[in-house]
Amino acid sequence: MKIGVISADIASESRVALTPDAVKKLRKLGFEVVIQSGAGQAAYYADALYQAAGADIASSSAEVIAQSQIITTIHDLPAEVAEHLSAGQIVVGMLDPYRNTQLDTYAAKGATAFAMELLPRTLSRAQNMDVLSSQANLAGYKAVLLAANEYSRPFPMFMTSAGTVKPAKVVILGVGVAGLQAIATAKRLGAVVEASDLRPAAKEQVESLGGKWLDVPMSDDEAQKAKATGGYAWTPSEQYIKDQAAVVDKALSNADIVITTAQIPGRNAPRLVHAATLAKMKAGSVLIDMAAGTGGNVEGSVPNETITTENGVRIVGAANIPSMLAAQSSDLYANNLVNFITTLIAPAGDDAAANDLSLNLDMEDEIQGALAVTHDNQVRLAKR
Ligand code: NAD
Repeated sequence: MKIGVISADIASESRVALTPDAVKKLRKLGFEVVIQSGAGQAAYYADALYQAAGADIASSSAEVIAQSQIITTIHDLPAEVAEHLSAGQIVVGMLDPYRNTQLDTYAAKGATAFAMELLPRTLSRAQNMDVLSSQANLAGYKAVLLAANEYSRPFPMFMTSAGTVKPAKVVILGVGVAGLQAIATAKRLGAVVEASDLRPAAKEQVESLGGKWLDVPMSDDEAQKAKATGGYAWTPSEQYIKDQAAVVDKALSNADIVITTAQIPGRNAPRLVHAATLAKMKAGSVLIDMAAGTGGNVEGSVPNETITTENGVRIVGAANIPSMLAAQSSDLYANNLVNFITTLIAPAGDDAAANDLSLNLDMEDEIQGALAVTHDNQVRLAKR
């Protein structure tokens, strides 16, 4: 059975879906692998490394599709590539399911498309397939380095003969996987850190990393809702949004660095920092908006651009930080995909030959069933 790797083929993406190490693992399991020439180049994985790991090289995406039973990608396939799919083929990647406009094409072609973002994350056997966590973890770390690079003062406190340098004040809004890693990284660089999230459970995690929790008052009703959503974000009331804006406004008036990470799967990111708050921030302060690609947490942020407001505040629209750490992000992403692909294969019988792999697609399986957005000529994605 052959697995294909399609090049992302967009300037803003340097990651690759499978690495040479992943190819070795898949070869050991009995798969063949074909990769589009140059697909790993921007992550420092040249074609020769894939060949040495046992992969074939194809000159075009069409050639990869023609040869492969399972096609791996970082993002959704480009429309002209999806057109080449045929019945029974499988696509695995971050397909951005709720914004994806070509699920009908996948279904019409008879392809089974697995959107890795839909993984049931609390399921322990799914944790080694969790692409959102593997990528967000690296992104949270790198966001702090981006901020440090943009900021014209250091993060740690310095005692020098010319005077004392105060530590940077960092505020993190949204304390999921990326936010927690950002807190840990900013603390390691010597900053003073405050953080907030609409999940009250995040308070303990913030404090255990040495951060200060920014508390937004919550009604009993909201506290119940927060509990009922099992640790995931809930829809806040008008009153909560107003109270949160006041807490953010006060914290940011004093902040040097702000990192926002709040996302809502399938919807636009919540607006957490408004123009009125930006106007109160210090000249030279830096905001990294990690949700810039999905609507932005910060008013006025522009994906993949850095803008400076009239009062000298820098807003970095960091739409794809994992791509800036392409080699490591690809390693972890590829591991996640290998772990998932392994579950698509039927256990070999005692007398099966080593290369005798067969597919075991099972929409009743809680992982496959959750990830499959098209199967059997149907779109299976519930509306949000
Ligand atoms: P995410 O990228 O979807 O969002 C980042 C954070 O922003 C989240 O903590 C979210 O609560 C917060 N947020 C969303 N809207 C907000 C708002 N209006 N105001 C303030 N904060 C807001 O989050 P993520 O890192 O993907 O994590 C999502 C959830 O999944 C978290 O509860 C996390 O603990 C959980 N998780 C669980 C597992 C597991 O059980 N194995 C693994 C990974 C993540």
